[in-house]
Amino acid sequence: MSPLPHQADSPTSTPGRQPLKRRLELDLRGDLTPDRLDRLRRNLGLVAVNSSGEPANTVLGERAELQPNSGITRMVMTFSRVDAQQWSLTIDAVLDTDLDPWQCLTEIACRVAGLSVVANLTAFDSPHACQFCGRYVLEVEGWAESLRPGHKVLAPWSDDPMFFHGCYHWSCVRASEFGPKFRTELLNWICGTEHLVTARGEDGLPHDTMRTGLGYTRHLATVPSGDIYESLRFDRWVFAETAGPIHFLDFDQALALSQGKPLRGNSGGRPAFLPERPGDVIAGWGLDELLNFLRIRDLYQDLIDGNAPEYSFWRGAPKRSGYVLTYSLSAIRPIPGDVSEFFRHYLPRYALEHSLPN
Ligand SMILES: [Zn+2]
Repeated sequence: MSPLPHQADSPTSTPGRQPLKRRLELDLRGDLTPDRLDRLRRNLGLVAVNSSGEPANTVLGERAELQPNSGITRMVMTFSRVDAQQWSLTIDAVLDTDLDPWQCLTEIACRVAGLSVVANLTAFDSPHACQFCGRYVLEVEGWAESLRPGHKVLAPWSDDPMFFHGCYHWSCVRASEFGPKFRTELLNWICGTEHLVTARGEDGLPHDTMRTGLGYTRHLATVPSGDIYESLRFDRWVFAETAGPIHFLDFDQALALSQGKPLRGNSGGRPAFLPERPGDVIAGWGLDELLNFLRIRDLYQDLIDGNAPEYSFWRGAPKRSGYVLTYSLSAIRPIPGDVSEFFRHYLPRYALEHSLPN
C-alpha cells in the first residue's frame, strides 16, 4: 500500500523537517459513520482535516508529535479514506520510536470505531534503510554508500543542527530537495580542517564539538557537472557533483580518468544485513534476483544499464531476525566526462611537480 499524499497546508503541518524512518500501516475495512469518525479522532488525538464525505484518497485526520525543546517532528499519524469501505492509518516516526504501543492503541481505537484491521505492516527500518527514501540500501561504491557517526555531518533536512549517519542511494540524493544542502554539509566536513561544529544532542540542547575535516582545502576547478577539490597533504581529489553526491579519487584513479579509462568501484567483500531470510537459494542468485528480493531493483537500474556490475555471493548465514550476507559488488563509477577531461589537462603537470608517474 502506498502512502496517501498529505495535505500540504494542513493545520498540523509541522515545523521540523526530518525523514521519518519507522512506519506502521493499518489497512482498515468497514463502514465509518461521521459519529464513529469523530470518536476515532477523539481516541487517537487526531485533528480533523477533511470530513468523511470527501472523495477517495483524502486525509481525514492528522496528529503530529514534536520533540521537546527542538520542534523536530518525532511522529506523524495520518488517518485517510481510501474508498467507501477502505481506510488507512499510518504512523511515520523517527528511527528510535517503539511502535508496538502505538500499534496496540491504534488497532483498539479502529476496532472500537467498527473497523476491521485487515493488515498491518511495520515497514523496514534497519540501519540499511536509505536516509532519503527509507528503502533498503545495498552498498556499492559510487552508487549507494554510508556515512559513519564519527564523520559528524549535519542532517541536511533539519533547520535545527543535528548530526546524522546512515546509508543512502546516490540517486536519492540527486533527486532530493535536500541534495544541495547535503552537498554543502558534506563539503564543510571534507574541505575543512579541524573546526568547531554546533549540533543539538539527544538531550535537545546545543553542544559544541570538534570536527576533524578531511583537508581537501584547495578548490581546483568548477566544471559543468560540479567542483573539484584537492588535498594539500595527499595526492587525492574530491569531485562534488552539483546535484549532491561526492566522489573521492586517489592518484591512480585520477590517472585512469585522465587516460579516458572507466573507473570501477572497489569490489571488496562487505557484509549486509537482510531483513528477510532468502533461504539457501541466495547462493545461486545473480544481482537481479538479489535486487528483486530486496525490492530495490528500480533504484539500481542505472547501475545495471551500461555500468557493468559484477556481483558475487561470498557467504551468508541466517540470524535471529534476518540474514547476514557477505557479497562483493562493483560497477563503473558514474563520473562525468568533464571530470576526466579536467584531469587529462591537469594531471601531467601535477605529476611532474610532485615527481609522480604519468
Ligand atoms: Zn534511497
